[in-house]
Amino acid sequence: MALFNPGVSECPICNRVLYNNDARIGTSMFINDRKDKFWRYSDSCMHKQCFMNWELRKEFIERYNKAQSNYIMNDDGTLTRIKKWWHILLPGFMKN
Ligand SMILES: [Zn+2]
Repeated sequence: MALFNPGVSECPICNRVLYNNDARIGTSMFINDRKDKFWRYSDSCMHKQCFMNWELRKEFIERYNKAQSNYIMNDDGTLTRIKKWWHILLPGFMKN
């Protein structure tokens, strides 16, 4: 998950600084290509409100979910861990 530095980290959508008490969402690194239009949103923290009003949100979530194997991003930016068949067959195999 992106490193969050309160008062320093900037929201890539509005370019304003993020503070501890801001509702926010974080993404992990999933795009390495700096030329990709979503590169700056990969491995970043964003204001939750910016994210919810972002015109590219649905497209971003689609990209994120194609790249991730352990989590899916929900419509509101929250993450849900995907249960794999071995989690079901071997409960306790992966606790987190
Ligand atoms: Zn913002």
